[in-house]
Amino acid sequence: MVGIWGCSAVLGGAGLPGSRVDLQPAPARSLRPNHVQRDDGPVTTEARGAADAPRRAQAQTGAQAGAHAEQEQPQEGLNNRLNWLRAGVLGANDGVVSTAGIVMGVAGATTDRAAILIAGVAGLVAGAISMAAGEYVSVSTQRDAELALLAKERRELEEMPEEELHELEDYLMSKGLTRDVAVEVACQLTERDALRAHAKLELGIDVDDITNPWNAALASMLSFTIGALLPLLTMTLLPQSSRIWATVVAVVLALALTGWTSARLGYARPVRALARNVLGGLLAMGVTYLIGDLVGAHVS
Ligand SMILES: [Zn+2]
Repeated sequence: MVGIWGCSAVLGGAGLPGSRVDLQPAPARSLRPNHVQRDDGPVTTEARGAADAPRRAQAQTGAQAGAHAEQEQPQEGLNNRLNWLRAGVLGANDGVVSTAGIVMGVAGATTDRAAILIAGVAGLVAGAISMAAGEYVSVSTQRDAELALLAKERRELEEMPEEELHELEDYLMSKGLTRDVAVEVACQLTERDALRAHAKLELGIDVDDITNPWNAALASMLSFTIGALLPLLTMTLLPQSSRIWATVVAVVLALALTGWTSARLGYARPVRALARNVLGGLLAMGVTYLIGDLVGAHVS
C-alpha cells in the first residue's frame, strides 16, 4: 500500500479517497494511476466515458513499455553472454601466450622433455590459479559495492518513499518523458517492484544479475587452462625435431583465432587485432627462447 499512498500523495491529493474526484472526475482521473480508479465511489456514465480516453492512452503506454521490456531482455541476456565469451577468449589467450613463453624458454635451454613438461605444468597451474584469484577478488569487490548500493537504496525506499518516487519521476523526465507519463510510469514501477526499478534506472544494477565471483573465477581458470594446454601438448608430445616449429605454428593459429574473435566481439577491425595478437605471441616466444638459450648455455 505504500506505493499507492506514495503515488496518490504525489498527485496533490487528487487520488486520495473523498477528494475532488466527485466534482471533476475526468481531469482528476486522467492523472491518476489505474489502480486507484478501480475502487472509488460510483461515477456517472458520461464521467466514465470521459475517463476512458486517458485510461486507454495509459494502457497503450503501458503495453508499449511492456513490449519494449520484452525486446530488451534478450538483448541484455545476449550482452551478458558476450561478456562471458569475451572473458573466456581473453583467458584462453593468456594461457596460450604465457605457457608458450615458458615451454619455449625451457626448450631454448634444454632438450629434456621432462624438464619442459614440469615447467609447463607448473606454469599452467600457477597461471590458472592466479587468473582465478584475480578474477575472484575483482568480481567480489564489484559485488560488495553493488550489494551495498542496493542496501542503501532499500533503506531509502523504506524511510522516504515519496522522495524516492520523485527521484524516479525526475529521472524519467530527464529521459524525455512528459510529467504526466513520468508520474504514471514511476507509480507503476514503484508498485510492481520499487527496488528493482531504482536499482536498474538509478544505479544501473540488474538485481537478477549480480555476478557470482566463484563462477567468474572458475570460468577464467578453465579458459586459461584450455589455452595453456595447446603449447604444452605440442611441445611435449611431438618429436624433438619438429616440436619448436610445430608449437610456433599452433600458437600463431590459436592467437589468430582468439584475436579475431575478441575483435569481432568488441566490434573492432579483426585483421589489425589479429595481427597485433599474433605479433605479441611471437615476441613472447622469441624473447623467452633466446633468454632460455642464453641462460641454458651459462648454466650447463
Ligand atoms: Zn532511488
